[in-house]
Amino acid sequence: MENSIVRDLLTLSHEIGREDRELTLLAEGNTSARLSEDTYLVKASGTCLGTLTEEDLTECRMSLILAMLDEDEMTDEQVENALLDARVNKSAKKPSIESILHAWALSLPGVKFVGHSHPTVVNQILCSPRAEEFAEHRIFADQIVCGGIASVYVPLVDPGLKLAQVIRRETGAFMRKHQRRPSVILMQNHGLVTLGPTWQSVLAAQLMTKKAAAIFIGAAQLGGPVFFSDETIERIATRPDELYRQRLLKV
Ligand SMILES: [Zn+2]
Repeated sequence: MENSIVRDLLTLSHEIGREDRELTLLAEGNTSARLSEDTYLVKASGTCLGTLTEEDLTECRMSLILAMLDEDEMTDEQVENALLDARVNKSAKKPSIESILHAWALSLPGVKFVGHSHPTVVNQILCSPRAEEFAEHRIFADQIVCGGIASVYVPLVDPGLKLAQVIRRETGAFMRKHQRRPSVILMQNHGLVTLGPTWQSVLAAQLMTKKAAAIFIGAAQLGGPVFFSDETIERIATRPDELYRQRLLKV
């Protein structure tokens, strides 16, 4: 295995799994990284991000997992068998049910790492009637620097294959509308997915989305939030000093 990718993925997993950050608890959440042209590493089902080890990472074939996205109907048993069949090493642990959405996110241009979590403060909004509004708007500059000009919003669907198919549809619509790939995907009544070229970019988007959620909730209590205009968002997204900061932050 590529040791630096394994090391980076474990670092990302431990950072997301830190209990004091309240991004995940117990076996919640999962992470992944592109390993080669057709393979990626993903957290095994039921393992804990905060204490993840190399044995808890399963290498899967992208092409086999992505092929499932074109299937209209698969039973739970068929999905489980397909996940097991996609393992490069047949003695490796069972990959997470969310391996399908990870494969899709890792297939997007420039994406090498993906993190998925259920942050308490973000889910306060995602379990409320204002979830879509939170995804579509921006309220401060670093939210754009680390999380992009908007987030993809995904309505509540069955986890696993159905969820990955809806994420593919909504991500495609986002990319056609904004002419760039997203860094943040927000799933109604579920949680957060962040994606990027480095483990640092994935963690930064996690933490900044958590901060944005806390600000959104606080501002809502004061009659807000006041959202940035499209012009302000585009200006921040293309300012040379903000792009410089992005490079320094590896986002
Ligand atoms: Zn989840």
